[in-house]
Amino acid sequence: MGAIVNRIGRVVVSSVLLAAATIFYFGITGTIAPNQVAVSTDTVVNPAGDAAPVAVGSVVVGPAGLAIPVAGVRPGQLVDTYTQARAGGARRHDAIDIMAATGTPVVSAAPGRVEKLYFSNGGGGISAYVRSDDGLWNYYYAHLSAYAPGLREGQRLHRGSPVGYVGYTGNANPEGPHLHFAVNRMAPGEKWYQGTPINPYPLLAGNAAKR
Ligand SMILES: [Zn+2]
Repeated sequence: MGAIVNRIGRVVVSSVLLAAATIFYFGITGTIAPNQVAVSTDTVVNPAGDAAPVAVGSVVVGPAGLAIPVAGVRPGQLVDTYTQARAGGARRHDAIDIMAATGTPVVSAAPGRVEKLYFSNGGGGISAYVRSDDGLWNYYYAHLSAYAPGLREGQRLHRGSPVGYVGYTGNANPEGPHLHFAVNRMAPGEKWYQGTPINPYPLLAGNAAKR
């Protein structure tokens, strides 16, 4: 994998495994609280793919430089669906849905290790949980049509590594294939199915949702 940093603070990562795909991502700065994510236009990147938090001045960066985890999707195409109600208002969405055609490559938003490959017929369908190297974050990829070839639990992923393909397995609408992507803050000892969600939208789009 190679990385090029250009002058507007955007980083393009080209993966040899996704030769035709480019992934745009932005660094984030700010103090991460469960329901509040501060985002700066100052870009913090780590082309080496190290997931360790990066301190910039007096602020602390959470999951720095998340890649948009669907190949070819630009920040401006993202929609903040984090607070949308699900199940008739019974629960909050707590994730972002990234719409894309079935079969579009899904890539790892950040470095980490595949902690759990899980199938939930009534939920996320074919799904993957990837834990950051520092253990503080878990990234959840759901409704996949399939995993990337050879994907297995315990596997180390780089930012941009293949995870699978967009689909609509589980409780997604076949007419609206998408990646359901969640970012969960993990307390010490929490399991793959636990954690506290934060809104991935500003992390991926590089700006707070307009209200
Ligand atoms: Zn969703």
